[in-house]
Amino acid sequence: MSFDTADALKDYATAGVSRHDLCFTSATPDALANLRSALGRSRVGVRVVLAGPPADVHAAASVAAECGLVDEEMTLRCNEVGPRVIFCGHCHTSTTTDHPIGTNVDCQGCGTTLTFTDHFSRRVGGYLGFSAHAEEAA
Ligand SMILES: [Zn+2]
Repeated sequence: MSFDTADALKDYATAGVSRHDLCFTSATPDALANLRSALGRSRVGVRVVLAGPPADVHAAASVAAECGLVDEEMTLRCNEVGPRVIFCGHCHTSTTTDHPIGTNVDCQGCGTTLTFTDHFSRRVGGYLGFSAHAEEAA
């Protein structure tokens, strides 16, 4: 399943295993429902490759996880650039940003300046953000 870039999966060799390509412009509810039904039809041993912007890949990964797939059955190929979801540790609002890892972003919920690392949380479906000024305030 790929988002945005139709060619993202072309170079991914499946070695004769039957494959089912899904391509969407973004992780819309329709696209995720499509993924859900495709996984529902697939047999045990299915492998899922998700490619595209991190926010879309992670949204799709959480759907796949709901369908019972484990980490070993998923390959996530996130674009280096593209929107990421930052989960605010203070007010639990998800903020989507184009900023690269290691920079700051203002939370859309509480306005706190959040910094985030590459620590991705499957549980909340985003990168964990924490106050950039926490150490100074403490
Ligand atoms: Zn917040």
